Amino acid sequence: MVNTAPRPKKPGRNDPCWCGSGRKYKDCHLPIEEAQRTEQRELRRTQETLLPRVLETAREMPALFPAAFELFWNGRYTFDQMSDLDALEERGAERFLTWFAFDYSVDENGTLVERLTRDAAAGTFASTPYEQRLLQQWQAIRLRAYVINTIRKGQGLWVVDIASAERFYIEDQAASKRIKVGEVLVGHLLWIGTAADDTALYGITGAVAHLTSDTAPKLREFLALHHADLQRTTPAATLTDVVQQRSHVLNHFVIALPTSPDPGALDAIIDHTRASLHLDAAADT
Ligand SMILES: [Zn+2]
Repeated sequence: MVNTAPRPKKPGRNDPCWCGSGRKYKDCHLPIEEAQRTEQRELRRTQETLLPRVLETAREMPALFPAAFELFWNGRYTFDQMSDLDALEERGAERFLTWFAFDYSVDENGTLVERLTRDAAAGTFASTPYEQRLLQQWQAIRLRAYVINTIRKGQGLWVVDIASAERFYIEDQAASKRIKVGEVLVGHLLWIGTAADDTALYGITGAVAHLTSDTAPKLREFLALHHADLQRTTPAATLTDVVQQRSHVLNHFVIALPTSPDPGALDAIIDHTRASLHLDAAADT
């Protein structure tokens, strides 16, 4: 399903199993594959209803919004504009709430998703076993930037995390048709299950920002500046530490982008970031 090599043709129920065990397919891998398909379908269905539930819970914590708002929108919007956000920024409210739920520390124990995972295990957040499995995996998910690496038309895409260089497979038929290699996605990749060959499958939420390919080198430059800044206090900090501790700056980059191609605007973002972090232009080479 995910391998680029074509899969062997599916055997009939009474044919020898493709794995070479010598048993009939129906007595060997057929039930295993059926169970995997059922599980994948259930996880995907659960994901569609769980994410709105998580965001709904986030919505019930308005006391924490002003500080989180300032961090995420970099002062561009004030909290009283929350209800207009979708008009001001594409899916602005959903982007904020998704980041708030997955990335923002709601208390000394961490994020809302981490809290819901504990509440689900304790039974205080009503949940099904599928929801609990998704939450377990979702605890580690943060806002990240990914470059599109390989497209499997009509199936999905391989992407590379700009900070960690890790590869992820997004299973999304529609996205595989409208996204091109080299373009950038900034958002939360949600774990939605495991393929038959053990590849982890990810889905993209509606709140993902889709950027043109000319932004990839500038985004790397932008993160390098934040890396240099973080290393002033933590010399051993890696690029992954930067996005782990400051995922909100990825949104600062997105909201500073021009709405039409403009290379000068991209350079201006870098210059502005360098100045605001008090980094010398010569110091980051
Ligand atoms: Zn078999």
